[in-house]
Amino acid sequence: MSNGAVTNGSSGQTHTESQRYLSTRGDDSGLSFEEVVLKGLASDGGLYIPHEIPAAEQWESWKDLSFVDLAFNVLSLYISPSEIPAEDLKDIIRRSYATFRSPDVTPLIQLQGNIHLLELFHGPTFAFKDVALQFLGNLFEYFLVRRNEGKTGRDRYHLTVVGATSGDTGSAAIYGLRGKKDVSVFMLHPKGRVSPIQELQMTTVLDANVHNLAVTGNFDNCQDIVKALFADPDINSSHKLGAVNSINWARILAQTVYYFYSYFSLARQQPDSFKIGDKVRFVVPTGNFGDILAGYFAHRMGLPVDKLVIATNENDILDRFWKTGRYEKKPAYGAAAEGGLPADGVKAHEDGVKETLSPAMDILVSSNFERLLWFLAYEFASSAGMDDEWNKKQAGQEVSAWLADLKTKGGFGPVYKDVLEAARRTFESERVSDQQTLDTIRSLYKEVGYVLDPHTAVGVEAARRSAARAPGVPTIALSTAHPAKFAGAVTLALRDEPGFEFDAKVLPPEFVGLDKKEKRVRDVANDWTAVRELVKQEVEEELKGLR
Ligand SMILES: *Cc1c(COP(=O)(O)O)cnc(C)c1O
Repeated sequence: MSNGAVTNGSSGQTHTESQRYLSTRGDDSGLSFEEVVLKGLASDGGLYIPHEIPAAEQWESWKDLSFVDLAFNVLSLYISPSEIPAEDLKDIIRRSYATFRSPDVTPLIQLQGNIHLLELFHGPTFAFKDVALQFLGNLFEYFLVRRNEGKTGRDRYHLTVVGATSGDTGSAAIYGLRGKKDVSVFMLHPKGRVSPIQELQMTTVLDANVHNLAVTGNFDNCQDIVKALFADPDINSSHKLGAVNSINWARILAQTVYYFYSYFSLARQQPDSFKIGDKVRFVVPTGNFGDILAGYFAHRMGLPVDKLVIATNENDILDRFWKTGRYEKKPAYGAAAEGGLPADGVKAHEDGVKETLSPAMDILVSSNFERLLWFLAYEFASSAGMDDEWNKKQAGQEVSAWLADLKTKGGFGPVYKDVLEAARRTFESERVSDQQTLDTIRSLYKEVGYVLDPHTAVGVEAARRSAARAPGVPTIALSTAHPAKFAGAVTLALRDEPGFEFDAKVLPPEFVGLDKKEKRVRDVANDWTAVRELVKQEVEEELKGLR
């Protein structure tokens, strides 16, 4: 199907009047930003991408803008004023980042030599996911308030967000949605299997629209319950279910901003050695590929990027793709970790996800990688010189075929040589074991006195390797969490360092006394119908309370 915005000449215009979105699997196109944000996943199972990646033609002139003003300029290229008037968008952005503890929102510091650290953890839950979820929460609220204008009681559009979390996403989503009008949020976590700090961050939020459910089971059980709810006609007819997981386009979009912002921070901090127009490397601790994909968009918009470096832990499906061109859940060759923990220290789920010291990156497949695959397939199709509509159709078909193989055969590839070469032109990858993660935390602490969280340590180790290959190019490593959130790994790495004390060196005042606060959480069995009834009942009570 042809979309309205790009190729339809009926308006007589040659460029997009407002940005439209299509699905990576090709069966859904011409959607508005609002539709894409509220839907999350496309009806054909694909992920939404913009019909065109806009060029940031004036990007060099953004150098001295505040984070909020820069964010406004970047997001305006994707969200037209006919959808969200400029003043409203600016207000949403301003409120989203007013909750951050740093005036820079995402400050850049020089870590060591040519390696700089982009601290993304100054939001309410001390993890980089706040950057996207603070914005997404306000965006949901904005769209709902608008839809509900003049409506009262049961006529109001009420969104019920349901999600499963093993830690980071849950607390960031809860903080993004707490107290928001016309939204309830149900966050399922595996009882007793979330780090104590992360559990407390979720359960001490007492807003009436926040519902923590502790499921007797593991994270996979929680995910299965959420999937069952989304597939259930009963609750879908009575409740509008919404998702906030990392496939939501608004999350990717919000994250493109700090690539620009850190680039300009570097130019301000190193005026003698770094000029606007020079290239940088970005190194990104990667799980679902959302964070680094935002870097890809920033690059395609015009930001001078030398390489985007994917840093994986021992769950290395992406690293294996860049090395072999094959994307497979299980490696074809015995891939016992070189330099990893001894075999008996590695706990493996039946499905092959390894529990590592950087749990937010413990994934079997990276959902957002599908978006990059589409652009790679599109580029490949375009080399045949057909028209744009044909190229897009080809890309959608290719992605659908790859994803079908992933589902039925556990993998696909090797992809065409040209596709892999295109992937390698922009990206590099590094795999970092748990042992190397601990070593990196320790060595940075010894050398510069900085305490890294284990996810950031995966990135910093990859940054050191990458920087050694590109001596003159500055490297920006993304720091995705505050070390206090991962006390176990940090303590494991640093407990024998003279003078190291977790409480004195790492713990922020916000975490002190969290365990003494009042909690709100309900235990539920690993039974999706029981969860469904609980969701209905709690939404009902919430709505009663509002009247
Ligand atoms: C979610 C997360 C990541 C991985 O980000 P993706 O966008 O899923 O690649 C890395 N580090 C931390 C601390 C996270 O919470």
